[in-house]
Amino acid sequence: MDLKDLYRDVIVDHNRNPRNFGKLDPADAHADGHNPLCGDRLTMYVNLDGERVSDTKFEGAGCAISVASASLLTEAVKGKSRDEIKALFVDVHALLTQHDANVDLSRLGKLAALSGVREFPARVKCASLCWHTLNAALAHADEPVSTE
Ligand code: ZN
Repeated sequence: MDLKDLYRDVIVDHNRNPRNFGKLDPADAHADGHNPLCGDRLTMYVNLDGERVSDTKFEGAGCAISVASASLLTEAVKGKSRDEIKALFVDVHALLTQHDANVDLSRLGKLAALSGVREFPARVKCASLCWHTLNAALAHADEPVSTE
C-alpha cells in the first residue's frame, strides 16, 4: 500500500465513521460554518480549560472531504492550546494549498491525509471550513458572557 492509498483510506474512514460527531452540551462556545461552493454546513463546539481546548465536537452535513477534515480536526486539537491550534492551522493550510509546502508531516499526524486535497483546488474550502469555523467558535469564547 502506498502513501496515497493510506491517505485515501484515512479520509474514507473518517467520512464514514466521523469521530466526535454530535452536539457538545453544554459547550463554552460554538459557531456555524457554511461553504456555499459545495453546500457543506458544520457546527463546531468547543469547551475550554483555560487556554486549552478540553473537548470539541461537530455536527452537520457535507461532502466527504468536509466531514473527514472536521473529524480529523477534532482528534488533532483536543488538549491543545489556542496558540498550538493556530500553528497547526498554518501547517494544514500550507499542506492544502502549496505543492512545495515546507511542512513537517510528522507534526501533523493523521491530518497529513489531507495533502491529497491540493490536487483539487475546488475542494480546499471543503477541507478548511471546519478550521475557520473552529476559529470563529474560539473567537466567540472571548466575548464577555452576558448575564441579561
Ligand atoms: Zn465540500
